Amino acid sequence: MPSRVLIAQFMHETNTFSKLSTTLEDYRRQRLVEGEGIVPNFTGTRNELGGFIDAAKLHGWTPVWGIAANTIPSGPLTREAWEHISGRIVDAARSGNVNAVCLSLHGAMVSETEDDAEGALLEALRGVVGPDVPIVATLDLHANATERMARNANALVSYRTYPHVDGYERAVQAAQLVEDALKGRKRPRCLLVQPAMLKGADHGRTTQPGIMRDLLARAEAFEGQPGLNVVSIQVGFTWSDIPWAGPSIAVSHEPGAEDAARAAAGALIDEMWARRNEFSSSYRSIDEAVEAARAGGDRPLVLA
Ligand SMILES: [Zn+2]
Repeated sequence: MPSRVLIAQFMHETNTFSKLSTTLEDYRRQRLVEGEGIVPNFTGTRNELGGFIDAAKLHGWTPVWGIAANTIPSGPLTREAWEHISGRIVDAARSGNVNAVCLSLHGAMVSETEDDAEGALLEALRGVVGPDVPIVATLDLHANATERMARNANALVSYRTYPHVDGYERAVQAAQLVEDALKGRKRPRCLLVQPAMLKGADHGRTTQPGIMRDLLARAEAFEGQPGLNVVSIQVGFTWSDIPWAGPSIAVSHEPGAEDAARAAAGALIDEMWARRNEFSSSYRSIDEAVEAARAGGDRPLVLA
């Protein structure tokens, strides 16, 4: 019998310092496509939904369509927007009797009622489908990923490009892991490790050489190790006043490979910290800024 797989998107990059709420109307203006409407809107596109649609065909799944929602970065989502869109996704999981869940998320979404909106959504979905149904989510490179997200997903698969041009590839990768889990070839679980950093661990565009490209290449190389399914770097989104803002490493691994997953995450974090002054800064390096602050500096501590 074909596997029934929930496919949905709920994206937002939330700047909590903005006073402009993000409303359901904002989603309606940009993107709010419900149920079967996802198919004509996204078939053949090179984004995450296009990737999930192609993967569903490739693996012979019966898709259960949730909702596709995305809008421009702004302030926290209103309660109405958050409850409407997340509610549609959770309802689809409940009524669809699904065997797996494929989500396209951003990873830096905050609502008026949830500081960790993606964590809350994944937790609600896990509560509906139970512990044995694979849940995977693609994320933006600029995600503030959380332990709650990792605990309730089997893999977090983040973009490896900026400008972001690999949404399709990441969705196909996430869907392949779902298929492997459905066929009993893999039993993925997700580990998240965060360094004590608030500063975004990025280096502008990935089209130019530098630390960002080096870290992403190293993460991809770790994926070749036995038991490691996906090694994702989230560089963080600094403009968010939440406890877990900042970079993180998410490793989806097999049950016996937790030590290898921790070692890979630790190696990436060590390099991130050792080379912290190479991350792009419009002001100065991290160490210079800290020195200035300690000296009772005459200039503000600006790390963005
Ligand atoms: Zn981004």
